[in-house]
Amino acid sequence: MNRKITRISATTVLFFLFFLSCSVTKLVPLNDTDLRTELKQHISTLASDAFEGRETGSPGEEKAYNYIIRQFKKFKLRPAGTENFLQAFPFPAGAKSGSGTQLIVNMSSFEYDKDFYPLPLSANGIITGYVAKVGYGIYDPKLSQDDYRGKTNLVKKIFVMESGTPDGNNPHGKFGDWTDLRKKVDLAAERGATAVIFINSDTASGDPKADWKIKTTPCSVPVIFAEGKAAELLRDSIVTNCTVGVEMEKIEKTGHNVIAYLDNKVPFTVIIGAHYDHLGWGGEGSLYRGAPAIHNGADDNASGTAALIELARYVKATGMKQFNYLFIAFSGEEEGLLGSNYFAKHPTMDLSKVSYMINMDMVGRLKPDEKTLIINGTGTSPRWKSLMDSVSVDSIKIKETDSGVGPSDHTSFYLQNIPVLHFFSGTHSDYHKPGDDED
Ligand SMILES: [Zn+2]
Repeated sequence: MNRKITRISATTVLFFLFFLSCSVTKLVPLNDTDLRTELKQHISTLASDAFEGRETGSPGEEKAYNYIIRQFKKFKLRPAGTENFLQAFPFPAGAKSGSGTQLIVNMSSFEYDKDFYPLPLSANGIITGYVAKVGYGIYDPKLSQDDYRGKTNLVKKIFVMESGTPDGNNPHGKFGDWTDLRKKVDLAAERGATAVIFINSDTASGDPKADWKIKTTPCSVPVIFAEGKAAELLRDSIVTNCTVGVEMEKIEKTGHNVIAYLDNKVPFTVIIGAHYDHLGWGGEGSLYRGAPAIHNGADDNASGTAALIELARYVKATGMKQFNYLFIAFSGEEEGLLGSNYFAKHPTMDLSKVSYMINMDMVGRLKPDEKTLIINGTGTSPRWKSLMDSVSVDSIKIKETDSGVGPSDHTSFYLQNIPVLHFFSGTHSDYHKPGDDED
């Protein structure tokens, strides 16, 4: 046999094998059985204990985003994050106190977190000085309230004031504006305060919260809240000396959105999104009271993430060309829509080219007896209602609400004037509890 011919036939075979492998890996739409298998696979993986509840900024989040990226890669979607498929975003995750955090009144030293705590609007610093008691700390001539009347020599003093107002702590009351502690602290600093100590003598109204997970810019002076014995001493005794120290270090963590793009080279883009993060081992968002337990979040929101992945496959495999499609798996939703809010403010594409956004959050537990799917946001575009009326899927009933603002990621897009729809199969007794499992 001729060597040359042998070589040609080898090349032909290789070419044939290459061609065959291409046709084998070509993405095809799934039949219902395979689709169900895939959806189940995504949910059982994302909602497995190995992912530890996918808390934003945790190793479980990393496992989850790597899983989602693998799927997007399989579908040959284009990465559209800032680092490949990922878009990292910083978020405040609390604060830790240093040894400088202190309260000493008349030589008595008080305990951080038991007798007093710094407020998130506080500056860091250690101040020693005389105390000035300034009532509610309000100066409002229109309301005939001046807690500073007759008070002289205020400069360089530590101001002690009530956290509430003369009519309680009602933000809608006459003194509503003064329920904002920042307003009181700014006024105090203007009048010469070097630090502010809030106390609360009104048992009917709550104490100020120290939520360090909310982003705030600090005021110019240290601010603490004193309670119990410390508060009594500050309110009822003659204070001869006082030291207020705040040394709080804010903890910042990083969350990650996963973003993939299908570019059909047409003018407009549709965003399809679902959050993949959940509550980790519990924490503030949990409705479960007990020893720490993994919150797997199968319905919230491994279900929406699985739907997102399979919609990405479907759109790519069926060659839908009417729009470009941006698929986003958000993180930080449970911490307050952090990932979607970050994307909406730092978009990786021109948002003026976005026709609408679809959000799927908790789409895994359609109640069999009711079979009602809730679709929120049908008032956000004049086109939605007639479209909804024309769609029918099996015997699923649809319950619509107009508002584009709700406790999920579509809100971040609606606030950018983008029409939105949020698909939701309803809440249940496992919501935000360890029982939200795959089964
Ligand atoms: Zn949730």
